[in-house]
Amino acid sequence: MGIHKQLGVANAINASGTATPLGVSRSSPAVAAAVAAALPEFFVMEELADLASASIAKATGAEAGAVVHCTAAATTIAIAAAMAGTDPARVAALPDTTCLPNQVVLPAGHAVDYGQSNLQAVRLAGAQVVLAGSAERCSPDDLAEALASPDVACLSLVSSRLVQPGEPVDLAEAVRAAHRRGVPAIIDGAAQFPRIGELLATGADAVLISGQKYLGSPTAGLVVGAREFVAAVRAQNSGIGRGMKPTKEAIVGVLAALDEWQAADHDAWIATEAAKVEAFARKASGLPGIEARLWPDPAGLPVTRAVLTVDDPAGLAARLRAGDPPIYVMVRPDSLVLELVSLTDDEVTTILDRLVD
Ligand SMILES: *Cc1c(COP(=O)(O)O)cnc(C)c1O
Repeated sequence: MGIHKQLGVANAINASGTATPLGVSRSSPAVAAAVAAALPEFFVMEELADLASASIAKATGAEAGAVVHCTAAATTIAIAAAMAGTDPARVAALPDTTCLPNQVVLPAGHAVDYGQSNLQAVRLAGAQVVLAGSAERCSPDDLAEALASPDVACLSLVSSRLVQPGEPVDLAEAVRAAHRRGVPAIIDGAAQFPRIGELLATGADAVLISGQKYLGSPTAGLVVGAREFVAAVRAQNSGIGRGMKPTKEAIVGVLAALDEWQAADHDAWIATEAAKVEAFARKASGLPGIEARLWPDPAGLPVTRAVLTVDDPAGLAARLRAGDPPIYVMVRPDSLVLELVSLTDDEVTTILDRLVD
């Protein structure tokens, strides 16, 4: 009996991407086996953390890495690290930032909501957010002006399809502006694991990545970057990072997922996923009342989604959700957006059958 039947809960088809309310992603059998092997055992957690750092460094080319509970936690902890460093008294004092530079500069268009506002994740560390520019545009001058304040602790940037669709901020240029000002730069690239090399190449001190999104590990946040910054992140484990710590099974799962990632044929994966979404869009286009097109990921992730233009997107999405099995898609004012990564051929066929209905 499958786990859903055993628990009496829905076995949903998730065509809405790496969605937190739906369990995010599917881990491979090798990752699941590593997690199961870790759970009944004790570990010296510092040893696991050192191993994770070496493994993240090897897989990404960064100097070091740390695993924390999730990417939202990674944001809070990275901001804490920028403010407190490794100083035990400062680590213990947070979120009290009296006598510490505590302003975090964020381009206004990088204020995003992934189920929580990232501004709150920053403020949780005790910091204050200073928004630079407008949602449509944050120029180098806007950024330099915001960074000029004496109380700036760091620059925070986001690489995601959730950022405002205005004029994009040049991440490498923004990082250089932070470094000219002598403060670290952090990039939230939660759903961007396949682009980690590109994000690290901006020179950011830390790139924050979700393990459970495109890496397929258990829930985990990876802080990837400079040795010194990662050491400051790990130091927060005895401060506000305590409630955001990684579990032993998460670290072991991340190690297995990184091994698998390095052994994988990424070009073949991209080709298979592209063929899956193209075939789906072609079949959906043949259905009455549906116009289908392909939509490459706007942040540059090697993932293409299917956009179905229909008369009543909200109504159709509600009917898909109400059926058996429930099907979850992304809803836009004039269309439905479907991501098929990690769906089986049977599940894709089920979606087409239900669209016919
Ligand atoms: C998903 C997401 C997060 C949150 O990631 P968790 O690992 O679920 O905490 C943060 N930032 C962005 C841009 C995201 O897409």
